[in-house]
Amino acid sequence: MNDIDWNQYALETQAIRAGHHRTHEDEHSIPIFATSSYVFKSAADAAARFTGQQVGNIYSRFTNPTVAAFQDRLALMEKGERCLAFSSGMAAIMAVGMGLLKTGDHVVCSRSVFGNTVLMFQNYFGKFGVETDFVDLTDINAWAIAIKPNTRLLFLETPSNPLIEIADIRALADVARAHNCLLVVDNCFCTPALQRPLTLGADIVVHSATKYIDGQGRCVGGAVVASEEIIEKYIYPYLRTGGATMSAFNAWVFLCGLETLAVRMKAHCDNATILAQWLVEQPAVSKVNYPALTSHTQHELAKIQQSHFGGIVSFEVHGGKEAAWRLIDATKMVSITANLGDVKTTITHPATTTHGRLSPEVRAKAGINDNLIRISVGLEAIEDIKADLAIVSKN
Ligand SMILES: *Cc1c(COP(=O)(O)O)cnc(C)c1O
Repeated sequence: MNDIDWNQYALETQAIRAGHHRTHEDEHSIPIFATSSYVFKSAADAAARFTGQQVGNIYSRFTNPTVAAFQDRLALMEKGERCLAFSSGMAAIMAVGMGLLKTGDHVVCSRSVFGNTVLMFQNYFGKFGVETDFVDLTDINAWAIAIKPNTRLLFLETPSNPLIEIADIRALADVARAHNCLLVVDNCFCTPALQRPLTLGADIVVHSATKYIDGQGRCVGGAVVASEEIIEKYIYPYLRTGGATMSAFNAWVFLCGLETLAVRMKAHCDNATILAQWLVEQPAVSKVNYPALTSHTQHELAKIQQSHFGGIVSFEVHGGKEAAWRLIDATKMVSITANLGDVKTTITHPATTTHGRLSPEVRAKAGINDNLIRISVGLEAIEDIKADLAIVSKN
């Protein structure tokens, strides 16, 4: 098992078996290596490890076998050459910026990215002289026009949060290549089970493992997947120095999460499709955002680019914030929480939570209205999820 070439295997198999190098204890389940450092056989060995002449573990800020197993497994699943794990999704995004950007560089970012990602580029990279322009996710021309001679990165999420818009990764990868920029895709909503951006031309995938990869809302973590060159030259040196490391315990939880990812994603998508179709018919609902619906602007693109439509549905209700809050407060079972990608269905009001720190103008421009509700559809019986939202059936 230690010398199988997992590239030859399907994603479902990689997710269960790849990355584990069985030790002399013959364990079946992967061990949690709870150790901060490693012992060298001699002073010469220690020196050889530190210079990189000898491969092996040094210190768990940047080498840990449990974390390495998670990294190797996720790299295979994303069809990337190498993956590095981080302490959170935001730490992974920060690592991409810290590794690849310098003062005077320019970034073009989708307007519809995670709220903290906007703040990261605007407030923190901005503070050090990196300028970011935000564009409409689905407007390819806007991306091309926004690119300047000093543009280094294009950054997007697809499907977007919370409007579930779909970007054409292949088309944007062409734009990036033509202008010598790198395309970064936050693949949190789809996971490699539904979409593999690197196979569509993206250069870097970032993840919040906190969401579907964990799948049961236990740990916070993140990852960057890219070519060996990008990781070795730009991301790994930053991780080793910056230290936003994933713990061995969290890596173990995420490894368990990956094992069931494909079946969970399929079940999330099936439930979400039924729920979206039902919501469309409810009198209190004025609009439903879900790419399986033929009314969705990028329905055809989603069908080609993703293997299924995802587990997140958002919708608008008649009335404003009050109507949205009333609906959320009327639920009994569904969890009111900003987290997503959990087996438990969660409901949130983006305008006052996940996107509440954005200015009202930025929010309005991104189309996040006060009557918008986002649901991360869980794996409870779909009839029970519908029953919990029954208030939408009333006028
Ligand atoms: C949650 C999330 C992040 C941030 O990840 P954390 O693990 O919470 O730091 C980044 N991108 C997307 C799309 C997310 O949903």
